[in-house]
Amino acid sequence: MKYDYLIVGSGLFGATFARLATDSGKRCLVIDKRPHLGGNVYCKEVGGVHVHQYGPHIFHTSDKKVWEFVNRFVEFNRFTLMTVANYKGRLYNLPFNMNTFYGMWGVKTPEEARAKIESQRKAVGQITNLEEQAISLVGRDIYEALIKGYTEKQWGRACKDLPSFIIRRLPVRYTFDNNYFNDTYQGIPIGGYNVLIEKLLEGVEVRTDTDFFGGMEHEWKEMAETLVYTGKIDDFYHHRYGELQYRSLRFEHELLPTPNYQGIAIMNFTDRETPYTRIVEHKHFEMMGSEVNNLPMTVISREYPQEYCQGAEAYYPVNDEANSLLYAKYQALAEKEDRVIFGGRLAEYKYYDMDDTIAKAMEKFCKYQEKIVSLQQKT
Ligand code: FAD
Ligand code: UDP
Repeated sequence: MKYDYLIVGSGLFGATFARLATDSGKRCLVIDKRPHLGGNVYCKEVGGVHVHQYGPHIFHTSDKKVWEFVNRFVEFNRFTLMTVANYKGRLYNLPFNMNTFYGMWGVKTPEEARAKIESQRKAVGQITNLEEQAISLVGRDIYEALIKGYTEKQWGRACKDLPSFIIRRLPVRYTFDNNYFNDTYQGIPIGGYNVLIEKLLEGVEVRTDTDFFGGMEHEWKEMAETLVYTGKIDDFYHHRYGELQYRSLRFEHELLPTPNYQGIAIMNFTDRETPYTRIVEHKHFEMMGSEVNNLPMTVISREYPQEYCQGAEAYYPVNDEANSLLYAKYQALAEKEDRVIFGGRLAEYKYYDMDDTIAKAMEKFCKYQEKIVSLQQKT
């Protein structure tokens, strides 16, 4: 065999796995169907701005091992995500905190905020879906203004038909703290995400514009001892049990002749009528304070959610009941594979953040190495 590992996909799962394997003396080949490396964290440089081509990415984690791992390859800046929601022209702070409650109701103390939310959550009993979860956490007013429209655009489904865990991703705080995440560590790689990917893949053989299903599937499988697959799991099994559903996105990128378009990296548009969910102004991820004025132009991206169809990009797994049952059938097939490791957002059909993806790649690499060693000892 020419390689120890053939890795399908150069996103964070594939790139982390390749780094770990290469560092322990294994021969790897990474292929990716896109014309570039990095999967969804890839950035394109436009006039000195790193444009997050596949949606805004903020690195955040409480996992010290993951944080130390990424910091071996790149330094991170002090960016902290604080998002503003625009609901019919009025602005509110996100995630849900005392600033949001003040903006919504004029309440000034945690006690007043709790009382207001309590008075609006009374009708809800057992929590079975996102709508009930949201009302129970922040009350009906905030649900109607900041959650319902955004979520139904984002997922193309009624909040009543979505799992409650999606809204629990966002913190709810009774303090004046606009940090979007609760994690210990946060930032953007200095020089952009491509630096991280380049370092992870340094010294690794890579081929872009190469689809695993482009006619050579059998040959690819024979080329390496083990296949690491990070594409869609239902593709891997040629949709034997049917297609899993994903949510897709369309981005409209625009270069504007102004140094500062919206004053913040991410503004969400939470009403149902605005067709996009958010506008990202990329320079704010890396240019702090008055630094934004050093560059007379800016790049913004409007993000439009859309249904996934073959040929589009699959961005989010839809973890509702029907899809979870279908995924379990594919997972059962995957568990029977001896020489294939499935990893990442698409192959594990999980709503992983970047740190989860890296942690999983580390864990799966270590487990597989242990398995090989124990097999060698037996023979
Ligand atoms: P991917 O990055 O999707 O990589 C998979 C790769 O496999 C792709 O390059 C693809 O081209 C390739 N591939 C697929 N099929 C084939 C095939 N048949 N042949 C060859 N190659 C193939 N996480 C955070 O922590 N913070 C954030 O702020 C954040 N924001 C996000 C915003 C959006 C809009 C999205 C969609 C995700 C966000 N994430 C964020 C999650 C983050 O993108 C993922 O956790 C991470 O990128 C997953 O890495 P991956 O390697 O699993 O998948
Ligand atoms: N959400 C919302 N209003 C907002 C932002 C988020 O209702 O202004 C909901 C929406 O359902 C979304 C979920 O919270 O899918 C999780 O948000 P997050 O920002 O974590 O989404 P992601 O970054 O994964 O797109």
